Amino acid sequence: MKEQKEIVAYLKDKGFIYPGSDIYGGLANSWDYGPLGAILKDNIKQLWKKTFIDEQHNVFHLDSSIILNSKVWKASGHIDRFSDPLVDCKSCKQRYRADDLLKQANHKNVSTLSLEELTKGINKLQCPNCSKQNWTNVREFNLMFKMSNSKINLNDDEIYLRPETAQGVFINFKNIMDTISPKLPFGVGQVGKAFRNEVTPGNFIFRTKEFDQLELEFFCHPNDANKWFKFYNHEIQSFLKNTLNLKSKYIKEFHVPTKELAHYSTKTIDFEFKFPFGWAELLGLANRTDYDLKTHSEHSNDELLVIDPITKEKYTPYVIETSIGVERLLFAIVSNHLKTIIVDDEERDILQLPFALAPIKIAIAPLTNKIEKQAFKLYEKLLKDSIGSIIFIKGGSIGKRYRKQDQIGTPFVITYDFDSQQDHQVTIRERDSKKQTRVKIDEITTFIQNHAK
Ligand code: ATP
Repeated sequence: MKEQKEIVAYLKDKGFIYPGSDIYGGLANSWDYGPLGAILKDNIKQLWKKTFIDEQHNVFHLDSSIILNSKVWKASGHIDRFSDPLVDCKSCKQRYRADDLLKQANHKNVSTLSLEELTKGINKLQCPNCSKQNWTNVREFNLMFKMSNSKINLNDDEIYLRPETAQGVFINFKNIMDTISPKLPFGVGQVGKAFRNEVTPGNFIFRTKEFDQLELEFFCHPNDANKWFKFYNHEIQSFLKNTLNLKSKYIKEFHVPTKELAHYSTKTIDFEFKFPFGWAELLGLANRTDYDLKTHSEHSNDELLVIDPITKEKYTPYVIETSIGVERLLFAIVSNHLKTIIVDDEERDILQLPFALAPIKIAIAPLTNKIEKQAFKLYEKLLKDSIGSIIFIKGGSIGKRYRKQDQIGTPFVITYDFDSQQDHQVTIRERDSKKQTRVKIDEITTFIQNHAK
């Protein structure tokens, strides 16, 4: 795996990810997705939706609001509990998560310590930045972004940007039951922005204050929760290893100890990935029990439960949740698939993305500019065949053009040459095998479909 700084530089140079607000000197830990990054991000979302929603029985889409009634966050526990323990060095003004500092100093069970216990532990440590021992007390810092809502609702002037998309699903449970009447078990998935005022954002796009989540809430009978937890564990493993082709050696499960579980969970597995900076959480799988539906039932005027059509049993479903950050996934995918190969003593970058993820699927290259017009006609024809994103590449030697496409992960380059006009054939070159095949123009789409991996 390449080093983090190489990956960051590569992603900027090739037009995937730029520092946010770049021409104004940037904004710490904010990133913009350029022409290739925007497509890659979207391809990840589409592939997740296909795998976890469209190809599953009884799983539905939802697109809920980012800004919700604040009562949602009171009921869910986010206003009271969604916080990190914060500590400042009074000498150099550096800010830290107290639990992170203690974990780095090898303290055990840090997440179970009270604020007083954390402060006691921190007072024994030196500031990693200035080496002084001059700390504030540890205090809770709520991670939700608070905004003024006075123009939207005069009765309630504090609102929040959602820190997770999941609550939008829970508060629509009744709407979904009343309108499309799904039979249990069923799932609701959605993709959308989430915001967290992280104390220590960083590690490139790993931890940012604004990110996209892919979340699936699967509702089932409480007795079946373990079965569905296992099912989704398997689905996640398969998605990571078979669909995204991430190497098994870079993935491990961390079974969160009971004492460290979030307040709504009885069982959580963090799937960790070996990022260039080390092992860290890529995504989570949790048994959220009936916590969310029950708490929203108590705080709203609605009973969020179901009645079994046969036994007439009334119960609150349990929820199995899978929650993934798109940016973390993108970081993992690029770290896994960006390789350097040596050809003729020369180092070359190649991004070996699965076909479904590649930002550009096909590049059309006229062998020389003398046949550019004819090649362009073929390009226009293929654009309408919806095989995927296609670009036209001219200028420079054909070898150089191949290499440039390898660098950005384009699986196929189609070369239109002098014979093409007569024999109605082109040469298709495959990124990974470098194999070149002569193919009839009418059979390009079939060839691509058969060879796309
Ligand atoms: P961490 O322990 O890394 O802060 P978390 O346990 O708080 O993560 P969850 O609340 O379980 O994270 O969120 C689900 C997923 O959303 C995470 O696994 C991760 O992929 C993504 N995610 C969470 N916070 C961020 C963030 N600040 N930046 C990018 N992605 C994030």
